Amino acid sequence: MVTAPSVSRRLLARLRDVMAGGGTAEIRLDQVVQLIAADLEADVCSCYVQRAGEVLELFATQGLKKAAIHNTRLRVGEGLVGDIAAHARPLALADAQSHPNFAYRPETGEEIYHSLMGVPIIRGGRVVGVLVVQNRSQRRYGDEEVEVLETVAMVLAELVASGELIGRDEQVSVGGSGALPQRLEGVRLNGGVGIGVAVLHRPRVVVRRFVADEDPEVEIERFRSALVGIKTALDEVFARPEMNDGEHRDVLETYKMFTEDKGWRARIKEAIKAGLTAEAAVSKINDDMRARMAQIEDPYLRERMHDFDDIAGRLLQFLAGGEGLVKPDLPADAVLVARNLGPMDLFDHDPSRLRGLVLEEGSPTMHVAIVARALDIPVVGRCKDVLDRIDPGDPVIVDGDNGLVLVRPSEDLRDAVLDTVQASRLKVAAYAKLRDEPAVTKDGTRVSLMMNAGLLLDLQHLEDSGADGIGLYRTELPFMARASLPDVATQTALYERILDQAKGRPVVFRTLDVGGDKVLPYWKPSDEENPALGWRSVRITLDRPMLLRHQLRALLRAAAGRDLSVMFPMIAEVAEFVQARAILDLEIEHARATGRGLPASIRVGTMLEVPALAFQLPTLLPLVDFISIGSNDLAQFLFAMDRGNPLMSERYDPLSPAMLMVIQGIAAQCRAAGVSLSVCGEMASKPLDAMALVALGVTTLSMSASAVGRIKAMIRDMTLAPVQAYLTGLLGCRDRSLRPRLKAWAGDHGLRL
Ligand code: PEP
Ligand code: MG
Repeated sequence: MVTAPSVSRRLLARLRDVMAGGGTAEIRLDQVVQLIAADLEADVCSCYVQRAGEVLELFATQGLKKAAIHNTRLRVGEGLVGDIAAHARPLALADAQSHPNFAYRPETGEEIYHSLMGVPIIRGGRVVGVLVVQNRSQRRYGDEEVEVLETVAMVLAELVASGELIGRDEQVSVGGSGALPQRLEGVRLNGGVGIGVAVLHRPRVVVRRFVADEDPEVEIERFRSALVGIKTALDEVFARPEMNDGEHRDVLETYKMFTEDKGWRARIKEAIKAGLTAEAAVSKINDDMRARMAQIEDPYLRERMHDFDDIAGRLLQFLAGGEGLVKPDLPADAVLVARNLGPMDLFDHDPSRLRGLVLEEGSPTMHVAIVARALDIPVVGRCKDVLDRIDPGDPVIVDGDNGLVLVRPSEDLRDAVLDTVQASRLKVAAYAKLRDEPAVTKDGTRVSLMMNAGLLLDLQHLEDSGADGIGLYRTELPFMARASLPDVATQTALYERILDQAKGRPVVFRTLDVGGDKVLPYWKPSDEENPALGWRSVRITLDRPMLLRHQLRALLRAAAGRDLSVMFPMIAEVAEFVQARAILDLEIEHARATGRGLPASIRVGTMLEVPALAFQLPTLLPLVDFISIGSNDLAQFLFAMDRGNPLMSERYDPLSPAMLMVIQGIAAQCRAAGVSLSVCGEMASKPLDAMALVALGVTTLSMSASAVGRIKAMIRDMTLAPVQAYLTGLLGCRDRSLRPRLKAWAGDHGLRL
């Protein structure tokens, strides 16, 4: 029986000799499969390499017919080999032929082999090949044998990626950048446009030494001291004056917690004990995690991966002799390109030199996006294979507004974008002049312009944007930035600071809206087929009322003697509002009973983002002080369209007759009932959409701080009555979107959009 650590060390030492020996890559690969077959007492050992077009080609075998080499090819997903590649996970089968995915290839002569164990060959988080052993007998391979094969596969990954077996242009991870201009599509993680030169973030430390020459204890000690190095560096960041306050600190606390993850540390130590160097072990465990997580839809796990990635990258730098946290000097106009950025990275660079971030992964709620928003750096995420498609020093345009990255743009394009950026700077300067002017249409309708916020950092824009207050404070963002659930005292302190900084301007606090794509690092959501329609938002807080009670308690305490506005998210029916409101009343009672001061006034409202609620307005309106339309979710649910799916982003337009008629109906009923109505989704931030909303009777708009100026300029240019007449006349038409008509009309009527 083969046991992992000892055999693995011996095998690894011999592998090292083969890899360092002479001969072509194919000859070395051939020797490797012979070695593995002998060492694992397998009748067959074969190596498949993934070629362009998701094809796995047999490159070397010991035991199968040699004629099959380069002839046997399987698609990713086809047969057991294809299955291993498709799922990036090992398979160990005593009776492989009875597996439903078994695909028989006569040219290999494999019908006489019954058992099979295979592992993916992973490099940089991608499957580049598959390594398989087979036995005649129905052998049961143990977990430790799978581990050994995985470790060998990691060493082989370097050979596959060396470019000697197949050209680099055919390798899975290489997108073939060439020198031509490229237009890469991603998703907007933060708006704005930036132009600069690409700096690859922390170029991956290439692990060159895989097999430890010495005692594993020496390697474990190297790993430990690298971890200490990271912690010391973290402590230094914590000691910086700018770290005293705000979400930066919370985000880093969470990060620090990950460096203490016992399971992760134990796995790395095990890999070292199996014979790897510290750097190879860190890299292997990280690659394994990445490949497995790529198969997992769970946003919680995906978010955690960013932090682990970052820590692994830093550890590798330490182990390579770098100082871990020292960054290359950034050019004055830098566009950082990375697979992902950990929260720590934002504190390493000088933000004034950063013109944009481009990430291969990412979600709008990831930590880096949250802080980039506060620092006003455009970010495009989910840009496929970006690290292979952008070279350091390439000129890059990051168009955060449209989720686009233009690499090596032509002079003409660059000039055009520069013109646009310049023009928008001028516009911003012009808007700044309007800061203290009211948002009033030419025919005298006053529109209240509020801003959306979620971080303390956002509050600084309240003053310079000229917003009338905060129309949507997303309380989940501070929850997401922390390492653990904030208690009542912590929440109270936070909400007090928000109210202090708002200096008497109204702030609408929306209660916790988590679930869906908004994940808390310390709270793993349940597995759901369809999280957007699942257990999220107020559904969670109604089912876990203490969570809501604590939050409401903190809000009541923070607002003692001041005005408080509370809004519940994702309310789908009146009964839910009544239930949430009753919890608030309970807390008001609790505050009274304990002799605490209450807010001077309490306004209670709801988001309207689930279409069902629009049909219950006559029952709802007498119960609420205000309603705020969440146009992002309302559109998502109205059109049955995933708001995060780029394929859907252009398909349905909020400026469609359907959406506008729904809003028109809500506005009319709110007006008749004397209930104030606002829109706080993305629509409110876009001038043309905002024009339509005002025309439909919405007189409070809550938007990103950067949009306040342009929306105010549009409103001051607008005469309401003719827009109203024009728009109302269009609502019955058959167009999918009224955008083109409204745009033309606005242009004809001198509206600045
Ligand atoms: C909305 O759905 O429009 C909204 C404002 O809420 P969020 O974007 O936070 O879901
Ligand atoms: Mg919403």
